[in-house]
Amino acid sequence: MPINPNTCAGPCSNPYRTAIDAYDQAQHAHTETLTTWHPPLPYPAAPEPPTTRPTLGDPVWCTRCARTIRAALADLDDLASLAQAAVDGHRDAGARYGKTGATAKTHAGSPSPVTDTLDELYGALVEVEDQWREFRSYQDRPRRARGSHARRLTIAWLLDELDAILLHPGSVAFGTATLAWQRRLRGLTKSDPLARRSPIRCSRCSERQITRRDDGYYECGSCGKLMTQTEHDREFAEQADQEVHAS
Ligand SMILES: [Zn+2]
Ligand SMILES: [Zn+2]
Repeated sequence: MPINPNTCAGPCSNPYRTAIDAYDQAQHAHTETLTTWHPPLPYPAAPEPPTTRPTLGDPVWCTRCARTIRAALADLDDLASLAQAAVDGHRDAGARYGKTGATAKTHAGSPSPVTDTLDELYGALVEVEDQWREFRSYQDRPRRARGSHARRLTIAWLLDELDAILLHPGSVAFGTATLAWQRRLRGLTKSDPLARRSPIRCSRCSERQITRRDDGYYECGSCGKLMTQTEHDREFAEQADQEVHAS
């Protein structure tokens, strides 16, 4: 069954697309069954066509999905800054604590998945900016040094143009990718081992094996000691003090 060509490209119509898919598969299975059917077997019932209706795009996205994409695009800058801050914070702390330890070297030396991901995000955003500038015969994008400032400028520029961009049939990939980027960045600081790792020593076993868990607690991977965020931060401050006095 063909999908209504005016269906909104956004997540609002996922249930509709899923229902059409399921119906197509059921029809295919029904046809297969018929090839082996013969009397007096009961005739196999044909599948019921789906009753789910699509939300129509105007012309590409419905109003609600367009608003969702705008919010996601605006959110990308905050999420990216947060992820970057988490990595930078742990790098700095690792460098501060690990003057003699090996931990600092691995922290400072290994490129973080966060940094790679933010690079990839920037590349994807400026590609859309460049394409849209060309399509509208705007001036070329001004040369900017890669970094958080350039990312912010590109996102602001895209937000300015977003209403027009989303009217274009070519915006399906961009809109879908923007929503996917938001999900990805939200999961990033949670899943990045570097961003999860705490630089402090365990107060019980002295190992530097403490990581933040999904529930917000900090856990020592060596002895299993659990800390709340407050306990962790207090320990962090105390150990930073000791480092300063020791050096
Ligand atoms: Zn929609
Ligand atoms: Zn421990």
